[in-house]
Amino acid sequence: MHEPYFGGKEKEYLNQCIESTFVSSVGPFVNQFEDQLAEYCGIQNAVAVVNGTAALHISLEVLGVTHGDEILTQSLTFIATANAISYCGAKPVFIDVDRDTMGMSPSALNSFLETNAEQRDNICYNKKTGNRISACVPMHTYGFAAEIDQICAIARKWNIPIIEDAAEAIGSSYKEKSLGTYGDIGVFSFNGNKIITAGGGGALITNNPKYASKAKHLSTTAKKAHKYEFIHDQIGYNYRMPNLNAALLCAQIEEIEHILINKRYLAEQYKKYFESIDVSFRWEGENSTANFWLMCIEAKTKEERDSFLEESNKNGVMTRPVWELMCNLPMYKDCIKDEQINAQYLAERIINLPSSYRTHAK
Ligand SMILES: *Cc1c(COP(=O)(O)O)cnc(C)c1O
Repeated sequence: MHEPYFGGKEKEYLNQCIESTFVSSVGPFVNQFEDQLAEYCGIQNAVAVVNGTAALHISLEVLGVTHGDEILTQSLTFIATANAISYCGAKPVFIDVDRDTMGMSPSALNSFLETNAEQRDNICYNKKTGNRISACVPMHTYGFAAEIDQICAIARKWNIPIIEDAAEAIGSSYKEKSLGTYGDIGVFSFNGNKIITAGGGGALITNNPKYASKAKHLSTTAKKAHKYEFIHDQIGYNYRMPNLNAALLCAQIEEIEHILINKRYLAEQYKKYFESIDVSFRWEGENSTANFWLMCIEAKTKEERDSFLEESNKNGVMTRPVWELMCNLPMYKDCIKDEQINAQYLAERIINLPSSYRTHAK
Protein backbone atom coordinates (compact mmCIF):
# COMPACT_ATOMS: atom_id res chain seq x y z
CA MET A 1 0.00 0.00 0.00
CA HIS A 2 2.89 2.32 0.72
CA GLU A 3 6.38 1.28 -0.38
CA PRO A 4 9.45 2.74 1.29
CA TYR A 5 11.51 5.25 -0.65
CA PHE A 6 15.30 5.29 -0.22
CA GLY A 7 16.56 8.20 -2.26
CA GLY A 8 18.91 9.87 0.20
CA LYS A 9 21.97 8.98 2.24
CA GLU A 10 20.63 5.66 3.59
CA LYS A 11 23.53 3.54 2.24
CA GLU A 12 26.17 6.03 3.34
CA TYR A 13 24.87 6.15 6.94
CA LEU A 14 24.38 2.38 7.14
CA ASN A 15 27.97 1.91 5.97
CA GLN A 16 29.16 4.24 8.69
CA CYS A 17 27.40 2.02 11.27
CA ILE A 18 29.00 -1.12 9.93
CA GLU A 19 32.47 0.38 9.66
CA SER A 20 32.26 1.81 13.16
CA THR A 21 30.83 -1.52 14.49
CA PHE A 22 28.20 0.51 16.38
CA VAL A 23 25.14 -1.31 15.12
CA SER A 24 23.22 -1.68 18.38
CA SER A 25 21.55 0.76 20.76
CA VAL A 26 24.64 2.73 21.65
CA GLY A 27 25.68 4.84 18.69
CA PRO A 28 25.55 8.39 17.42
CA PHE A 29 22.62 8.03 14.99
CA VAL A 30 20.12 7.27 17.76
CA ASN A 31 20.68 10.59 19.55
CA GLN A 32 21.05 12.42 16.26
CA PHE A 33 17.72 11.10 15.03
CA GLU A 34 16.03 12.06 18.29
CA ASP A 35 17.29 15.62 17.91
CA GLN A 36 16.24 15.80 14.26
CA LEU A 37 12.78 14.41 15.00
CA ALA A 38 12.19 16.81 17.89
CA GLU A 39 13.26 19.74 15.75
CA TYR A 40 11.12 18.64 12.82
CA CYS A 41 8.04 18.40 15.07
CA GLY A 42 8.82 21.59 16.98
CA ILE A 43 8.98 19.87 20.37
CA GLN A 44 11.52 19.61 23.20
CA ASN A 45 12.14 15.86 23.46
CA ALA A 46 12.05 12.69 21.39
CA VAL A 47 12.87 9.16 22.55
CA ALA A 48 13.54 6.53 19.88
CA VAL A 49 12.42 2.94 20.48
CA VAL A 50 12.12 -0.37 18.60
CA ASN A 51 8.63 0.17 17.19
CA GLY A 52 5.44 2.18 17.51
CA THR A 53 3.75 -0.38 19.73
CA ALA A 54 6.64 -0.15 22.22
CA ALA A 55 6.39 3.65 22.09
CA LEU A 56 2.69 3.43 23.01
CA HIS A 57 3.40 0.93 25.80
CA ILE A 58 6.18 3.06 27.30
CA SER A 59 4.06 6.23 27.03
CA LEU A 60 1.22 4.61 28.96
CA GLU A 61 3.64 3.44 31.66
CA VAL A 62 5.22 6.88 31.88
CA LEU A 63 1.78 8.33 32.62
CA GLY A 64 1.32 5.76 35.39
CA VAL A 65 -1.27 3.60 33.64
CA THR A 66 -1.61 0.41 35.62
CA HIS A 67 -3.60 -2.79 36.14
CA GLY A 68 -7.36 -2.30 36.18
CA ASP A 69 -7.34 1.21 34.68
CA GLU A 70 -9.62 2.17 31.81
CA ILE A 71 -8.14 3.93 28.77
CA LEU A 72 -10.33 5.87 26.35
CA THR A 73 -9.48 5.13 22.73
CA GLN A 74 -11.18 4.35 19.42
CA SER A 75 -12.32 1.08 17.94
CA LEU A 76 -11.38 2.19 14.42
CA THR A 77 -7.63 1.77 14.76
CA PHE A 78 -4.76 -0.62 14.16
CA ILE A 79 -4.50 -3.42 16.75
CA ALA A 80 -1.34 -1.94 18.33
CA THR A 81 -3.29 0.85 20.06
CA ALA A 82 -5.48 -1.60 21.97
CA ASN A 83 -2.68 -4.12 22.56
CA ALA A 84 -0.36 -1.55 24.16
CA ILE A 85 -3.17 -0.73 26.61
CA SER A 86 -3.52 -4.44 27.42
CA TYR A 87 0.24 -4.79 28.05
CA CYS A 88 -0.26 -2.44 31.03
CA GLY A 89 -3.08 -4.60 32.41
CA ALA A 90 -5.51 -1.80 31.53
CA LYS A 91 -8.70 -2.03 29.48
CA PRO A 92 -9.53 -0.06 26.35
CA VAL A 93 -12.86 1.80 26.31
CA PHE A 94 -14.01 2.45 22.75
CA ILE A 95 -15.28 5.93 21.92
CA ASP A 96 -16.84 6.54 18.50
CA VAL A 97 -15.06 8.46 15.72
CA ASP A 98 -16.28 11.31 13.53
CA ARG A 99 -17.16 10.50 9.94
CA ASP A 100 -15.23 13.39 8.46
CA THR A 101 -11.93 12.95 10.35
CA MET A 102 -12.07 9.17 11.03
CA GLY A 103 -10.50 10.12 14.41
CA MET A 104 -12.00 10.16 17.91
CA SER A 105 -15.18 12.25 18.07
CA PRO A 106 -14.94 15.10 20.62
CA SER A 107 -18.71 15.05 21.12
CA ALA A 108 -18.75 11.27 21.68
CA LEU A 109 -15.87 11.67 24.15
CA ASN A 110 -17.71 14.43 25.96
CA SER A 111 -20.96 12.54 26.22
CA PHE A 112 -19.24 9.36 27.42
CA LEU A 113 -17.52 11.30 30.19
CA GLU A 114 -20.63 13.30 31.14
CA THR A 115 -22.60 10.06 31.51
CA ASN A 116 -20.00 7.76 33.02
CA ALA A 117 -17.25 9.71 34.75
CA GLU A 118 -16.70 11.52 38.03
CA GLN A 119 -13.69 13.23 39.57
CA ARG A 120 -12.38 12.69 43.08
CA ASP A 121 -9.21 14.47 44.24
CA ASN A 122 -8.54 15.45 40.62
CA ILE A 123 -8.56 11.86 39.47
CA CYS A 124 -11.12 10.68 36.95
CA TYR A 125 -13.09 7.50 37.64
CA ASN A 126 -15.73 5.54 35.79
CA LYS A 127 -18.52 5.87 38.34
CA LYS A 128 -20.19 2.66 37.14
CA THR A 129 -17.16 0.36 37.36
CA GLY A 130 -15.18 2.31 39.97
CA ASN A 131 -12.05 2.03 37.80
CA ARG A 132 -9.68 4.92 37.22
CA ILE A 133 -9.71 6.47 33.72
CA SER A 134 -6.03 7.22 33.46
CA ALA A 135 -5.41 8.19 29.82
CA CYS A 136 -7.05 8.95 26.50
CA VAL A 137 -5.45 7.70 23.26
CA PRO A 138 -6.97 9.25 20.12
CA MET A 139 -5.52 8.10 16.79
CA HIS A 140 -4.98 10.13 13.58
CA THR A 141 -6.33 7.73 10.99
CA TYR A 142 -4.21 7.37 7.82
CA GLY A 143 -2.47 10.65 8.64
CA PHE A 144 -5.66 12.74 8.65
CA ALA A 145 -5.95 14.90 11.76
CA ALA A 146 -8.57 14.23 14.42
CA GLU A 147 -10.11 17.35 16.08
CA ILE A 148 -7.21 17.15 18.48
CA ASP A 149 -7.53 20.55 20.17
CA GLN A 150 -11.13 19.83 21.17
CA ILE A 151 -10.24 16.31 22.32
CA CYS A 152 -7.42 17.72 24.49
CA ALA A 153 -9.68 20.43 25.95
CA ILE A 154 -12.30 17.87 27.01
CA ALA A 155 -9.73 15.45 28.45
CA ARG A 156 -8.02 18.27 30.41
CA LYS A 157 -11.34 19.27 31.97
CA TRP A 158 -11.48 15.74 33.38
CA ASN A 159 -7.78 15.58 34.30
CA ILE A 160 -7.13 12.80 31.81
CA PRO A 161 -3.73 12.90 30.08
CA ILE A 162 -3.58 12.42 26.31
CA ILE A 163 -1.31 10.16 24.28
CA GLU A 164 -1.72 10.93 20.59
CA ASP A 165 -1.31 7.81 18.50
CA ALA A 166 0.28 9.65 15.58
CA ALA A 167 1.89 6.43 14.31
CA GLU A 168 0.55 7.14 10.82
CA ALA A 169 0.79 10.89 10.99
CA ILE A 170 4.38 12.12 10.86
CA GLY A 171 4.43 15.15 8.58
CA SER A 172 0.74 15.94 9.19
CA SER A 173 -0.36 19.00 11.11
CA TYR A 174 -3.40 20.62 12.69
CA LYS A 175 -3.65 24.41 12.87
CA GLU A 176 -0.04 24.49 11.67
CA LYS A 177 1.28 22.48 14.61
CA SER A 178 2.61 18.94 14.07
CA LEU A 179 0.35 16.09 15.05
CA GLY A 180 1.80 14.35 18.07
CA THR A 181 2.58 17.68 19.77
CA TYR A 182 -0.93 18.38 21.12
CA GLY A 183 -1.11 15.59 23.68
CA ASP A 184 1.04 15.10 26.77
CA ILE A 185 2.92 12.54 24.69
CA GLY A 186 2.80 11.76 20.95
CA VAL A 187 3.78 8.47 19.35
CA PHE A 188 5.17 7.66 15.88
CA SER A 189 5.86 4.40 14.06
CA PHE A 190 8.65 3.88 11.53
CA ASN A 191 7.53 0.45 10.42
CA GLY A 192 8.32 -0.57 6.83
CA ASN A 193 5.01 0.74 5.50
CA LYS A 194 4.99 4.13 7.23
CA ILE A 195 5.92 7.53 5.70
CA ILE A 196 9.54 7.26 6.81
CA THR A 197 10.92 3.94 7.91
CA ALA A 198 13.69 2.25 9.86
CA GLY A 199 12.51 -1.21 8.83
CA GLY A 200 11.09 -1.29 12.34
CA GLY A 201 11.15 1.65 14.70
CA GLY A 202 9.12 4.05 16.76
CA ALA A 203 9.44 7.14 18.91
CA LEU A 204 7.59 9.18 21.45
CA ILE A 205 7.72 12.96 21.66
CA THR A 206 6.90 15.28 24.55
CA ASN A 207 7.51 18.75 25.90
CA ASN A 208 7.72 17.33 29.42
CA PRO A 209 11.39 16.58 30.27
CA LYS A 210 10.37 14.26 33.13
CA TYR A 211 8.28 12.12 30.79
CA ALA A 212 11.16 12.00 28.32
CA SER A 213 13.77 10.89 30.85
CA LYS A 214 11.38 8.33 32.35
CA ALA A 215 10.66 6.96 28.87
CA LYS A 216 14.37 6.68 28.07
CA HIS A 217 15.04 4.96 31.40
CA LEU A 218 12.20 2.46 30.98
CA SER A 219 13.19 1.69 27.40
CA THR A 220 16.81 0.97 28.35
CA THR A 221 16.06 -1.77 30.94
CA ALA A 222 15.79 0.87 33.72
CA LYS A 223 19.57 0.69 34.16
CA LYS A 224 21.09 3.40 36.30
CA ALA A 225 24.09 5.13 34.78
CA HIS A 226 27.28 3.75 36.29
CA LYS A 227 30.82 3.19 35.07
CA TYR A 228 30.62 -0.58 35.44
CA GLU A 229 27.85 -1.77 37.78
CA PHE A 230 24.54 -3.25 36.66
CA ILE A 231 21.90 -1.60 38.82
CA HIS A 232 18.33 -1.60 37.54
CA ASP A 233 15.84 0.23 39.76
CA GLN A 234 12.56 -1.10 38.34
CA ILE A 235 11.24 -3.51 35.71
CA GLY A 236 12.27 -1.93 32.44
CA TYR A 237 12.22 -2.98 28.80
CA ASN A 238 14.75 -3.64 26.09
CA TYR A 239 13.03 -1.18 23.76
CA ARG A 240 15.83 1.18 22.69
CA MET A 241 16.19 1.75 18.94
CA PRO A 242 19.40 0.26 17.47
CA ASN A 243 21.89 2.53 15.72
CA LEU A 244 21.37 0.71 12.39
CA ASN A 245 17.68 1.62 12.36
CA ALA A 246 18.42 5.16 13.45
CA ALA A 247 20.95 5.51 10.60
CA LEU A 248 18.19 4.75 8.10
CA LEU A 249 15.91 7.27 9.79
CA CYS A 250 18.52 10.03 9.82
CA ALA A 251 18.67 9.68 6.03
CA GLN A 252 14.88 9.37 5.72
CA ILE A 253 14.03 12.43 7.76
CA GLU A 254 16.36 14.52 5.56
CA GLU A 255 14.08 13.53 2.64
CA ILE A 256 10.73 13.92 4.35
CA GLU A 257 9.70 17.18 2.65
CA HIS A 258 10.40 15.64 -0.71
CA ILE A 259 8.43 12.51 0.23
CA LEU A 260 5.46 14.61 1.37
CA ILE A 261 5.42 16.69 -1.83
CA ASN A 262 5.29 13.51 -3.87
CA LYS A 263 2.56 11.98 -1.71
CA ARG A 264 0.46 15.12 -2.16
CA TYR A 265 1.04 15.09 -5.90
CA LEU A 266 -0.34 11.55 -6.11
CA ALA A 267 -3.28 12.48 -3.85
CA GLU A 268 -4.14 15.40 -6.17
CA GLN A 269 -4.17 13.09 -9.17
CA TYR A 270 -6.45 10.61 -7.41
CA LYS A 271 -8.73 13.45 -6.29
CA LYS A 272 -9.13 14.80 -9.79
CA TYR A 273 -9.91 11.37 -11.18
CA PHE A 274 -12.38 10.28 -8.50
CA GLU A 275 -14.17 13.63 -8.58
CA SER A 276 -14.70 13.16 -12.30
CA ILE A 277 -16.52 9.85 -11.68
CA ASP A 278 -18.45 11.06 -8.59
CA VAL A 279 -16.56 8.97 -6.02
CA SER A 280 -15.64 10.52 -2.68
CA PHE A 281 -11.85 10.68 -2.25
CA ARG A 282 -10.76 11.49 1.31
CA TRP A 283 -9.21 14.93 1.66
CA GLU A 284 -7.71 16.83 4.61
CA GLY A 285 -9.93 18.98 6.86
CA GLU A 286 -9.97 22.78 6.70
CA ASN A 287 -7.62 23.30 9.65
CA SER A 288 -5.19 20.59 8.81
CA THR A 289 -2.51 19.34 6.46
CA ALA A 290 -2.41 15.60 5.80
CA ASN A 291 0.63 13.52 4.90
CA PHE A 292 -1.67 11.31 2.73
CA TRP A 293 -0.07 8.18 4.17
CA LEU A 294 -2.80 5.83 3.00
CA MET A 295 -5.15 7.36 0.48
CA CYS A 296 -8.76 6.29 0.51
CA ILE A 297 -12.15 6.48 -1.11
CA GLU A 298 -15.53 6.06 0.53
CA ALA A 299 -17.94 3.62 -1.12
CA LYS A 300 -21.64 4.46 -0.96
CA THR A 301 -22.57 1.07 0.49
CA LYS A 302 -20.88 -2.05 1.87
CA GLU A 303 -21.93 -3.91 -1.29
CA GLU A 304 -20.22 -1.31 -3.45
CA ARG A 305 -17.10 -1.57 -1.27
CA ASP A 306 -17.05 -5.35 -1.51
CA SER A 307 -17.37 -5.40 -5.28
CA PHE A 308 -14.67 -2.73 -5.64
CA LEU A 309 -12.28 -4.74 -3.42
CA GLU A 310 -13.06 -7.93 -5.30
CA GLU A 311 -12.67 -6.41 -8.75
CA SER A 312 -9.52 -4.37 -8.08
CA ASN A 313 -7.67 -7.21 -6.34
CA LYS A 314 -8.67 -9.61 -9.11
CA ASN A 315 -7.08 -7.19 -11.57
CA GLY A 316 -3.82 -6.96 -9.65
CA VAL A 317 -4.48 -3.59 -7.99
CA MET A 318 -3.89 -3.84 -4.27
CA THR A 319 -6.80 -2.31 -2.34
CA ARG A 320 -7.80 -3.00 1.24
CA PRO A 321 -10.68 -2.34 3.63
CA VAL A 322 -10.03 -0.65 6.99
CA TRP A 323 -9.15 -2.76 10.01
CA GLU A 324 -11.82 -4.88 11.66
CA LEU A 325 -13.12 -2.73 14.51
CA MET A 326 -11.35 -3.54 17.79
CA CYS A 327 -14.69 -4.11 19.54
CA ASN A 328 -15.44 -6.98 17.14
CA LEU A 329 -12.22 -8.90 17.90
CA PRO A 330 -12.43 -11.79 20.38
CA MET A 331 -10.08 -10.26 22.97
CA TYR A 332 -11.82 -6.87 22.96
CA LYS A 333 -15.46 -7.77 22.35
CA ASP A 334 -16.45 -7.38 26.01
CA CYS A 335 -14.83 -3.96 26.46
CA ILE A 336 -16.91 -0.91 27.34
CA LYS A 337 -17.95 1.03 24.24
CA ASP A 338 -20.50 3.56 23.03
CA GLU A 339 -22.72 2.97 20.01
CA GLN A 340 -19.89 3.03 17.42
CA ILE A 341 -22.25 4.27 14.73
CA ASN A 342 -19.68 6.22 12.74
CA ALA A 343 -16.94 3.63 13.24
CA GLN A 344 -19.29 0.99 11.86
CA TYR A 345 -20.32 3.26 8.98
CA LEU A 346 -16.70 3.90 7.98
CA ALA A 347 -15.63 0.29 8.50
CA GLU A 348 -18.19 -0.73 5.89
CA ARG A 349 -17.20 1.88 3.31
CA ILE A 350 -13.57 3.03 3.41
CA ILE A 351 -11.16 1.52 0.89
CA ASN A 352 -7.41 2.08 0.90
CA LEU A 353 -5.77 2.65 -2.47
CA PRO A 354 -2.17 2.02 -3.54
CA SER A 355 -0.37 5.00 -2.00
CA SER A 356 3.25 4.68 -3.11
CA TYR A 357 4.29 7.40 -5.48
CA ARG A 358 6.10 6.53 -8.68
CA THR A 359 7.39 9.91 -9.85
CA HIS A 360 10.15 11.46 -7.82
CA ALA A 361 9.75 15.14 -8.59
CA LYS A 362 12.67 16.56 -6.63
C1 LIG B 1 1.70 1.31 12.68
C2 LIG B 1 0.84 1.67 13.83
C3 LIG B 1 1.20 1.43 15.18
C4 LIG B 1 2.33 0.57 15.63
O1 LIG B 1 3.50 0.71 15.07
P1 LIG B 1 4.56 -0.51 14.90
O2 LIG B 1 5.80 0.25 14.62
O3 LIG B 1 4.08 -1.34 13.78
O4 LIG B 1 4.61 -1.24 16.21
C5 LIG B 1 0.38 1.93 16.18
N1 LIG B 1 -0.75 2.56 15.90
C6 LIG B 1 -1.15 2.77 14.64
C7 LIG B 1 -2.41 3.51 14.42
C8 LIG B 1 -0.38 2.31 13.56
O5 LIG B 1 -0.82 2.50 12.31
